[in-house]
Amino acid sequence: MRASLLDYQGLGRGVAEISHRSAPFEAIQREAEANLRALLDIPDDYAVLFLHGGARMQFPMIPMNFLWSNGGVGDYIVTGHWGKAAITEVDRFGVARLAYDGAKTGYRAVPSQGELKLTSNARYVHYTSNETIEGVEFQRVPDTGSVPLICDASSNILSRPLDVRRHGIIYAGAQKNLGIAGVTVVIIKRSLLDRMDPDVPQMLSYRAQVKADSRLNTPSVMAIYSVALTTRWIRETFGVLTEVEAFNRKKAALVYQAIDDSDGFYRGHAEGGARSRMNVAFMTPSPSLDELFVAEAEDSGLVALKGHRSLGGLRASLYNALPLGAAEALVGFMADFQKRYA
Ligand SMILES: *Cc1c(COP(=O)(O)O)cnc(C)c1O
Repeated sequence: MRASLLDYQGLGRGVAEISHRSAPFEAIQREAEANLRALLDIPDDYAVLFLHGGARMQFPMIPMNFLWSNGGVGDYIVTGHWGKAAITEVDRFGVARLAYDGAKTGYRAVPSQGELKLTSNARYVHYTSNETIEGVEFQRVPDTGSVPLICDASSNILSRPLDVRRHGIIYAGAQKNLGIAGVTVVIIKRSLLDRMDPDVPQMLSYRAQVKADSRLNTPSVMAIYSVALTTRWIRETFGVLTEVEAFNRKKAALVYQAIDDSDGFYRGHAEGGARSRMNVAFMTPSPSLDELFVAEAEDSGLVALKGHRSLGGLRASLYNALPLGAAEALVGFMADFQKRYA
């Protein structure tokens, strides 16, 4: 990326300078799409979009397109911060119902199939495959029958296989596992487009965006290029997502093992079956020790371990880009810290 910013493939112009209607950009977008299709096994009856506005823009865009007539209902499975945020603006367009509310148990768990209270005539069911802040991850896809299932996969996309065919829409902001901020990948079943409000603003219309191949306006050229390169790296390094999964499983197992072997010095936030492989939320015996942990870790070159302000404590994010050695270094530091302060 660094080299291509100055000169893209010997054109004498950087990748941020080429026209989004040019053949070189066309090739970049096609590569990003082809790599995603290969890795996630995305069938032809799904379109792949590259949109602006972050994952957060999908929160209103979904009800805006689906809940357009006769008090339409969207079901929400809420297992943490982001699932809760996804609901906040639904009432501008229709009705949001809670199919599961993890707040009652402090967002530590994912629901079993039997715990879901689904509305039979819902236009869709929304869930968050990995809750980034609480470190709570679904280990299997919820069953919603014929109701389209929508997944916010922002923080675990491409970290493991995901069955696209069981979803109506899968979306993910790029900046965790796909590339740099500035683009949101949306995988959408084409047959759903016929059910959508024909009258929403073009930029917020899935139908219009599919028709325009995500180029209603200037797309995030550089960010899409980063997705093409990241997905190329995954294909070259791992080949298939089951290999990425094995790699991530190994990293996460190291950190959870360190927590479980600490005689209660470290405590994990998520319940066993809901433990995320991407984000490990945990804490020491006190907030002041948490603070000290963050400071001392930083001195040892281990950064970004402070928990999100809404949860506190500590959080180790183990995204695809994080090498095994980093998880090993963290585990080594955890043992040392415990020895000094337990
Ligand atoms: C980070 C994150 C978001 C927000 O993404 P933006 O691109 O900043 O809007 C939404 N959902 C999940 C699960 C996330 O991890």
